[in-house]
Amino acid sequence: MGKIRVLPEVVASQVAAGEVVERPASVIKELMENSLDAGARSLEIEVRGAGTGLLRVTDDGSGMDREDALMAMERHATSKIATAGDLAAVQTMGFRGEALPSIASVSEFTLRTRSAEAEAGTEAVVKGGKLVAVRDAGCAPGTTIEVKSLFFNVPARRKFLRSAATESAHLDRAVETIALGRPGVAVHYVRDGRTVFRAGAARDLAGRVQDLFGAEESAGLLAVAETEEQGVRVSGVVSRPGVTRADRGRQFFFVNGRAVESGFLSAGIREAYRQMLEPGRHPSVFLHIAMDPRAVDCNVHPAKREVRFRHGGAVRDAVRVAVESALREARAEWLRPVRTHVNARLDVAPAPSPPSVLPAAGHQPELPCPVLPVSEPAKENPAEPAPQRAPVEEFRLVGSLSRRYLLLEGAEGLVLLDQRAAHQRILFERLQRGVENGAVASQRLLAPDVFELPPREHEVVAENLGVLVSAGFGLEVFGGRSLKVEALPDFLAGREPRRVLEEFAAGCLSSGRPRGPGADDAVRRAVTRLAVGDEGARDEREQRALVAQLLACDLPYCDPEGRPVMLQFSWRELDRKFGRG
Ligand code: ADP
Ligand code: MG
Repeated sequence: MGKIRVLPEVVASQVAAGEVVERPASVIKELMENSLDAGARSLEIEVRGAGTGLLRVTDDGSGMDREDALMAMERHATSKIATAGDLAAVQTMGFRGEALPSIASVSEFTLRTRSAEAEAGTEAVVKGGKLVAVRDAGCAPGTTIEVKSLFFNVPARRKFLRSAATESAHLDRAVETIALGRPGVAVHYVRDGRTVFRAGAARDLAGRVQDLFGAEESAGLLAVAETEEQGVRVSGVVSRPGVTRADRGRQFFFVNGRAVESGFLSAGIREAYRQMLEPGRHPSVFLHIAMDPRAVDCNVHPAKREVRFRHGGAVRDAVRVAVESALREARAEWLRPVRTHVNARLDVAPAPSPPSVLPAAGHQPELPCPVLPVSEPAKENPAEPAPQRAPVEEFRLVGSLSRRYLLLEGAEGLVLLDQRAAHQRILFERLQRGVENGAVASQRLLAPDVFELPPREHEVVAENLGVLVSAGFGLEVFGGRSLKVEALPDFLAGREPRRVLEEFAAGCLSSGRPRGPGADDAVRRAVTRLAVGDEGARDEREQRALVAQLLACDLPYCDPEGRPVMLQFSWRELDRKFGRG
């Protein structure tokens, strides 16, 4: 009897603060969101001492009259929804009416606010949830909220804060995120007396990204033109193919202006970039998604970070379609001058040429063995290539750098091409196409090679027998540790079968065995990797063939592991770097 009681208001707020105010960055987020909801066009953010010293947000929004200002600090007081029905179609960032009282219950909190019509403003001071002063204040229309000594009265929470560097990084991320969500609102962010960034009202997300992350990041991005699919509109900027990062730190999704995380969104990105990403690499993504607010539930997470979509699959598909089309278009754009050249050359001599590398002694080719270059470039017959000359000038092979890279001049600027990555991309797509058409080029050994592998290696080969056979291996697995090899994929012709399979198995064992969906591709990647170890010197004719074959690929930008094949430096970028313009 008598054990249950209703918590006093301040205690209840402190409990709620545990959910809403995880760390200084959550305060900044809630305050900035309130400013946006109040229609602010410009925000000033100042933080000191990793947020436990001072957090201040000043806006030029609607402001509040005195009655509202006092009301705003009550629990569950909000001007944004009135009925449960409103909750279903929230258009504002806030709606829970919990942020201000929660923050005020665990800090020294000052609210200064004035509505445009009011003669004077109001200043209210709250300490640890207790209102200590209310007075008139001379201030511009809008609102300033100042939070000092965060968690001064909840030492347990203060103890759980991480290092100043970590909390500062969270603060930066919070401010950046809100700034990206509303490119049209000017944001000035000052940390410990220094401007971190000052971003004027930007026309679009691309402009905002450039203001926040600089020209270097922007150069690696391409625009996703607004696309609508089943009522879901997607627009923004994403990484060019081949430009990736080791973390997801530059992936931002906004649904109706609110930063959110959702498996459906990341799945849409993964699908759009499939094959362009090496495991563990990620593109930069800045996407705005606009949709009917009734089709998305924001009231899932106390900090409103996660959302639930009514039709998650449709959202995923809309993201995929929009990003895919941006990637496709970028590629078409980039290749236009190049294609003309390549096609012109390929038209002249379309048939596969005889092998330019003879099979090693002891192997007799039965199937055609088109070792690179697959198709010979045009014969240098002056009467015949004349009309095809012009496009060559649009994409000039300048030369090679240290055997590894080719230097090309295109209409847009300079291109550096990694020969090994290009070679692997070509082989990988050829293998994939071969598998699809049931026509993989394979080379039979003169006599079958029977040998043993150590148990683990043997097991990996046995596990992937089917894919290896489909990739051109004539291979049988016997009990114990024995294997019999009768043929190799054409691009491994001349290699010692035992070494090839040992290397394949070692690769699988060190990088994780291919399993689950995508395992077949992983095996094909591993097999093509075997063929591109040490790139010998290519003469000019072979270099041209390599470029031609690369540009005929579906995804010429990156190798099957997701590493870039070509790096592009536009004239503008070069001029800028040399201080020419
Ligand atoms: P919510 O945002 O969920 O409504 P909050 O506790 O964050 O709850 O804010 C309570 C109320 O205070 C808001 O509904 C709004 O009316 C008012 N308010 C808060 N911040 C501002 C601001 N910067 N400008 C104008 N009004 C504000
Ligand atoms: Mg709020």
